[in-house]
Amino acid sequence: MKSRKLPKVCGLNCLTLLCIPLVLPILRCTAVGTGNAGSSSSSSGSGSGSGSANGGDFDYRLQRVRNVLKEVPLIDGHNDLPWNIRKFLKNQLKDFHFGSDLREMAPWSSSAWSHTDLRRLKEGMVSAQFWSAYAPCSSQHLDAVQLTLEQIDLIRRLVHLYPHHMALVTSAAGIEQTHRTGKIASLIGVEGGHAIGTSLSVLRMFYQLGARYLTLTHTCNTPWADCCKVDEPGKYPHIGGLSSFGKLVVKEMNRLGMIVDLSHVSVPTMLDALATSQAPLIFSHSSAHAICNSSRNVPDHVLQRIATNGGLVMVAFYPHFVSCSGQATLHDVVDHINHIREVAGIDHVGIGAGYDGVNLVPKGLEDVSKYPHLFATLLESDKWTEADIAKLAGRNFLRVFNEVEAHDQQQQQEQQQQQQSEQKQKLLQFVCGCAQLWLLLPLMLSLLWMLLLLLLLKQHSI
Ligand SMILES: [Zn+2]
Repeated sequence: MKSRKLPKVCGLNCLTLLCIPLVLPILRCTAVGTGNAGSSSSSSGSGSGSGSANGGDFDYRLQRVRNVLKEVPLIDGHNDLPWNIRKFLKNQLKDFHFGSDLREMAPWSSSAWSHTDLRRLKEGMVSAQFWSAYAPCSSQHLDAVQLTLEQIDLIRRLVHLYPHHMALVTSAAGIEQTHRTGKIASLIGVEGGHAIGTSLSVLRMFYQLGARYLTLTHTCNTPWADCCKVDEPGKYPHIGGLSSFGKLVVKEMNRLGMIVDLSHVSVPTMLDALATSQAPLIFSHSSAHAICNSSRNVPDHVLQRIATNGGLVMVAFYPHFVSCSGQATLHDVVDHINHIREVAGIDHVGIGAGYDGVNLVPKGLEDVSKYPHLFATLLESDKWTEADIAKLAGRNFLRVFNEVEAHDQQQQQEQQQQQQSEQKQKLLQFVCGCAQLWLLLPLMLSLLWMLLLLLLLKQHSI
């Protein structure tokens, strides 16, 4: 399946060459160790692994990836399973068998939109997943807030139905703790700014219910932010980026410690959000515009700004974003990851596949079980180390999430310090007032005495 490089034999004599077939399997067994050797996907390897750092056999690289993912949580930025449960089952979780192989169960078995179940998430070593609480644009100004609440409720109920496999998580520390338990950290992302009904109160309540990112738009403009559709040929800006209320939304998210997500927004909206936010931003499911010029992708000049902002682009797998056509392969996704790495740097690229929200997937990345294959393919290049894979898989997102939370804590500390200094100032004013009164009292009494004395003298003189 994958291109395999033969071990370098330059400079070896014939006897050494004859010994290689006997020695290599021993070397490989030693290098790989004993854990997880029986992967169902290992048949793609040739058994000719060299054990070298890069360019070795696919099975060996896959094992290295699995070792990395045991240490570092694999975090995916976007999965639309909750919308599929609404679409197919009207949110009736009694009819949803997440623990089964959904490839063999109706209606999932015949749907091109289904790529996720617990078994395949485990096989793909997914440790943390942002589940999308999405309401379509047709609900804007109607029941978008209600639909989003129902989707948040669905995600929470789903997690509570599988307590041995999933845990609701709302912090970076929570992701790391859950990773150690072997459960899937389940986070909530609200997709589409129309979901807040132009109300900061609704935004704050979504945060209270566990939402940790808001995508500023979906495929429609909101009254306060332009979506990416306005960047397409023949289309015109609605606002030209973020309105003053839109900037307030970003600032309120900074204050709450909620991540601002720029997937789906127009380029001027991206730039306004970058200029407004004091915390790192993410693209939860977008790819590189320089490789596929979809308006859903991130242009190079924004990638550079993301690097200075400290943010993250989590690469989407949808073929129309990856190859600008209905067909793509795992190698096309690799090209996007490498491009974002080249322009923004290794600290600013992550994974946001977008499974269950698309009806087409790249060859080699058919469902949530395939992430390790992507990482193993990246390791084929000398450019990629295991530490780089760790950053791509989860370390970068953890850093961003920690910084967003730290910004919230810093703001809370500043507010507390301000309140304390105001209280000190009031106390000082009270003490000064008392002191002034204490000093003035003898003077007033003296004046009173003098006045009485004068009155007495006046009476006697008369
Ligand atoms: Zn989306």
